[in-house]
Amino acid sequence: MTSRPECLKVVVLAGGVGGARMARGFARIPSVKLSVVVNVGDDDWFHGLKVCPDLDTVLYTLSGVVNRSQGWGVADDATRALDTLRKLESPDTWMTLGDADLGLHIYRTQALRSGQMLTQTMSHVARRFGLGASLLPVSDQECPTLVDTEEGLLRFQEWFVKSRGMPRVRGLSFQGAAQASVTLEVSQAFSNADLIVIAPSNPLLSIDPMLAIQGFRTLVSESKAPRVAISPLIRGRAVKGPLVKLLEDLEAPATSEAIASHYAGLVDAFVVDQEEPAEVVAGVAHHMRALQMPTLMSDEARSQELAGKLLAWHQSI
Ligand code: GDP
Ligand code: CA
Repeated sequence: MTSRPECLKVVVLAGGVGGARMARGFARIPSVKLSVVVNVGDDDWFHGLKVCPDLDTVLYTLSGVVNRSQGWGVADDATRALDTLRKLESPDTWMTLGDADLGLHIYRTQALRSGQMLTQTMSHVARRFGLGASLLPVSDQECPTLVDTEEGLLRFQEWFVKSRGMPRVRGLSFQGAAQASVTLEVSQAFSNADLIVIAPSNPLLSIDPMLAIQGFRTLVSESKAPRVAISPLIRGRAVKGPLVKLLEDLEAPATSEAIASHYAGLVDAFVVDQEEPAEVVAGVAHHMRALQMPTLMSDEARSQELAGKLLAWHQSI
């Protein structure tokens, strides 16, 4: 007779799409109690509304309403509200916000204006969307990512969406992050964690903005729980998004080894894809324990398979 496995508390550090794909793998495992700690560096204000792209991507993915082909936004959403704003020559209509999506932004903005913290607001939203996991903004304070480009200093969404990530990047900064603090809920999730997973999110745009927040790096590096990160690169290519171009602009190598070295001291082990050649595994092993697993989470089953392998690794140590 097999005994019921104990409940395992897993904390996933996540940006948007890559983070959500990792989180959904753990979310379906009954023995896991999942907390997802999410980047807020992409958050910004549009049409008087607070928009939190990474939190919402995780929310929509875990609740099953996500637009699967995009990996973000709500499935079958329309843009009639945006069409009206465009007709009225309202500014900043380059940011795609669907009608269903706007309902969430309106709710969140009202809650924040009435004095609620983002954490409380997202906790209510997550419950109403039927999430079993805790959805935790890393901070309740705003610490926007600024992109220093050849065309000047741009807010993250101006660079990524309005300018399609084209202007060459000279550097990134996280405004106010050094003065911001992580929430109590995030600190508690780390104190209670059995396993910490850095999702294959963009290290520079999704994970670094969190690490820049006062005390967060120490919270991760001094955690007693085993910590593992997954490479967002498979054979030198990003599954999605601007990571490779960004690394090239910053004259950094677009390799899993370079990403492992970026996380040195922060995690105990680093996962590279099973497709990677032996020399990549050996390169990672210079920095920390290298693990090799299938990391392409193109559907829920693959996300769950990777989550299961990470749990098996956790049990083996
Ligand atoms: P964003 O905020 O929507 O850009 O999402 P994240 O920062 O969370 O994730 C973007 C990164 O996730 C990209 O660098 C992708 O290469 C990586 N990524 C997305 N899906 C997968 C996947 O299935 N497997 C792996 N290994 N990486 C992925
Ligand atoms: Ca993002």
